[in-house]
Amino acid sequence: MVVRGIFKGLARAPSLGRNGEKAQLSAAAPAPLADPFANSDAVARQAVLDEFEQAGFSWLWSTDREGRLSYISPGATVDAATLVGKSLTSVIETDPENPDERSGRPLRFQLSAHSRISDLIIRFTGTSVEDVRWWALSGQPHSLPDGTFAGYRGIARDVTSEYRRKREDSRAAEFDSLTGLFNRHRMTRRMDAVLAAFRPTGQCCGLMMLDLDRFKQVNDTMGHPAGDELLRQVADRLRTVVGDRGEIGRLGGDEFQIILPNFDDRGQMGELAAKIIQMVSQPYAIEGKRAVIGASLGIAVAPHDGDTREALVASADLALYAAKNGGRGQFRFFTSELQDEAFERTALNHDLREALAREELELHYQPVVRIDDNTVVGFEALMRWNHPERGEIPPAVFIPIAEESNFIVQLGDWALRQACKDAVQWPESVRLGVNISTVQFANPGFIATVKEALEASGLEPRRLELELTENVFMRDKEMVDEVFAALKGLGVRLALDDFGRGYSSLRYLQSAPFDKLKVDRSFVATCASDDQNSAKIISAIIGLADALGMETTVEGVEAFDQLEVVRQRGGKMVQGHIFANAMPIDEVNHRMASGDLKIEPNGPSRHRIERRAVFRRVGVIHDDHRYEAVMRDLSRVGARIDGLLGVPVGTKLVVDLGGGQLAVSVVTRSKGPVIGVEFETPLTSDGSGGLCTRHRLSPLMLAAATAAAASAPKGRQQFMEVAVRGSRDHG
Ligand code: C2E
Ligand code: MG
Ligand code: MG
Repeated sequence: MVVRGIFKGLARAPSLGRNGEKAQLSAAAPAPLADPFANSDAVARQAVLDEFEQAGFSWLWSTDREGRLSYISPGATVDAATLVGKSLTSVIETDPENPDERSGRPLRFQLSAHSRISDLIIRFTGTSVEDVRWWALSGQPHSLPDGTFAGYRGIARDVTSEYRRKREDSRAAEFDSLTGLFNRHRMTRRMDAVLAAFRPTGQCCGLMMLDLDRFKQVNDTMGHPAGDELLRQVADRLRTVVGDRGEIGRLGGDEFQIILPNFDDRGQMGELAAKIIQMVSQPYAIEGKRAVIGASLGIAVAPHDGDTREALVASADLALYAAKNGGRGQFRFFTSELQDEAFERTALNHDLREALAREELELHYQPVVRIDDNTVVGFEALMRWNHPERGEIPPAVFIPIAEESNFIVQLGDWALRQACKDAVQWPESVRLGVNISTVQFANPGFIATVKEALEASGLEPRRLELELTENVFMRDKEMVDEVFAALKGLGVRLALDDFGRGYSSLRYLQSAPFDKLKVDRSFVATCASDDQNSAKIISAIIGLADALGMETTVEGVEAFDQLEVVRQRGGKMVQGHIFANAMPIDEVNHRMASGDLKIEPNGPSRHRIERRAVFRRVGVIHDDHRYEAVMRDLSRVGARIDGLLGVPVGTKLVVDLGGGQLAVSVVTRSKGPVIGVEFETPLTSDGSGGLCTRHRLSPLMLAAATAAAASAPKGRQQFMEVAVRGSRDHG
């Protein structure tokens, strides 16, 4: 490199930068030298230097031993002369924003160490603030003959435009151009850095994964520019809610990530998550139209749920998956059970493929009853899986697994063909309802399958009712309209299942040719309660369906008080345990063959709200002794614990809820082997109807505590442990 060569010569040039005084560089006044050859050499060198300075590629500088500028080329900056005498570090500084990793060591440090400086990018702040320049600075210390340090001599080069371009490039590489949030690359680097910094001290770092619900629908119906605008508005809202508590990135599509360094309170994290979901779910104004989306959120906390980026992201993803499956619009914390569930899902997915071939799957049929004369008017086909090792697996578990792997297409086709074959034996007045997954609905071969199932069985199309959920509307609108039209063309009936469970936009009813609404059973579950709100909603849905010329079936009626409410509110058809559960085909055929289409309601007179009894083994620590007990009841503020005899009221205990969750508690009730405890700090929501402690013992401390407990003598046992038996032991 030319500059380097000159620099070498420069460092040797005796006429330059004499210690402490301003150097005079002038070809017109060469110092008289004895050796003519040396003289001509010096003159030549000086001429080169002069031309070099004047050309403006680079300029020269030198300092004295105190670091004050003793020389600077006149062309370096407009008022170069005024800089002489000022300390070098007062006019230049290392740029903290320099994207070049190499410049980590500050200039000040290098100068005081008298080390060689090579192409260090510095920001020149000597003259005006407006005219910030960047220089690449090189220099070499020089010494007096006795070896003492005498200062620096060097060159510098203006790299401002180069530097600005580089910085912009690196910004582009770190930012998402659509939303201005950080991009995946930057989030990855940040997370690695934060985790590495926190690892030695065990500090916590939260990670949130956010996924928008129904974004695709906006994109499909309103167009991509509208989708982009929506993402920008989502980003703005996220910035507002999160503020400086975390760093937000968009990973691509409608996937966002938030890093929350130094966050370990799950109560606060849950509040923030709920607020994010609430904010993102508010309507958006886009191109004069209104769009509504939702959001699901998964949360993992390092180091508990993973202490590497990969592990933490996997945990947060799993929590997000669970949040989406839990009905969307929810947040979920990662728990180790989710991991077990994930293993389970993989195993079940594998078994399911064989289940069909091994005939472990069956269709059961649940009657739909007209309530003014208790006559069966139809049956809904419901899939049952009797797993050879695990027993009955509910469809709510295996259907989503099958949907994920697309295996539902085969499974659903089988169900449709089988159900049509079964139903053709029944009296003509009895209809058949078959559930159709959205995945199946969107499959190109779907219409052909329906046609074939009808033809092969000979079932009249008007007797077949396909049950769809509103999820179908999240698919491409054109495709959905086409499939609806084709189905109507075949003459089959269409029912909208679980109406009222999700968003239940009325627009769906306007745009699709449904013959029936199935009122979601969540309204029935609470319809007999005093406030009557659910009862009123049931009448409103029935009224709406009537007005649109649709039938209704009310699902999930179990008790007489519910049946009465449904009757009063205008319900005509009911499907629920009060009439019958789903039954095997032999039983259906037996009933149908006898010609008896009546079923008398039979059930409890009043519906009892199910109390979720818990049966969970917990540890109870008192006076360094650990007892095993069973938790029966859990609320935010306390729990009922069975299995310890003779614990006085007022005793302080620590309840170990597992996974580092320790709840400091005090005994408030004690009767025989049953105690009631109150938590010092109330528990917080885990986002899915469960509870968890705000803080956890870190895995490091947990491991240390376990090791210590193993080697230390056991604390004194003061209470007697008694065995507790439970009907359902979930371990
Ligand atoms: P769904 O279509 O809404 O079916 C009604 C569910 O409510 C059935 O649950 C039924 O057993 C249950 N149920 C009926 N009466 C009562 C009651 O009085 N009380 C209570 N608590 N529950 C009642 P099941 O059989 O567990 O099925 C759950 C869901 O799985 C179905 O909901 C449906 O979405 C899906 N599913 C079942 N079979 C199939 C199938 O063949 N294909 C597809 N794609 N989905 C299916
Ligand atoms: Mg159904
Ligand atoms: Mg339903």
